[in-house]
Amino acid sequence: MERIGVFICRCGTNIAAVVDVPAVTAAAKNVPGVVHADENAYTCSETGQAAIVKAIKTHNLEGVVVASCSPRMHESTFRECIKGAGLNPYLLEMANIREQCSWVHPDKAVATRKALKLIEMAVAKTRKLEPLTPSSVSVSRQALVIGGGIAGIQAALDISAAGYKVTLVERLPTIGGKMAQLDKTFPTLDCGA
Ligand code: SF4
Repeated sequence: MERIGVFICRCGTNIAAVVDVPAVTAAAKNVPGVVHADENAYTCSETGQAAIVKAIKTHNLEGVVVASCSPRMHESTFRECIKGAGLNPYLLEMANIREQCSWVHPDKAVATRKALKLIEMAVAKTRKLEPLTPSSVSVSRQALVIGGGIAGIQAALDISAAGYKVTLVERLPTIGGKMAQLDKTFPTLDCGA
């Protein structure tokens, strides 16, 4: 993929007070595969999303990198956004330059360098992205626990207590694992078995 657009968010001053956004935007234009880079005050806003849609159409973008907050916050927002512009929603990558950069680095020069590195990595990944189609499979509400040691037994009990049918598999004739071989256990001196 050789036509990637990069959208760098200022998030008001959340990012812009620490990261030199204009410098990062200028540098992002020179990253291999990038044909368009721009900055927005609030990329998740209607205006910010409209700018992404417009750029996708104007520059015939094949993939999008949004450098902003955590994907947990807005990945679905931007997936929907690029889908609205006709791109497969999975041709999106986010570079987290807020939680993992501006919020944790007081040094502006360091934060700016790191923001660009995060964007370069996101672009590199985007170049290898392929369109995906969501599919669904039926799930059997049962669990298989392999290993009948203490951890396996406890896991089986916990899952069972949560209301699921559990099958516990052990290759030896008895369960209990190493614990069953112990005579006494500290500090209660209970027998292992
Ligand atoms: S996309 Fe994220 S970083 Fe940008 S304005 Fe919205 S919340 Fe802030």
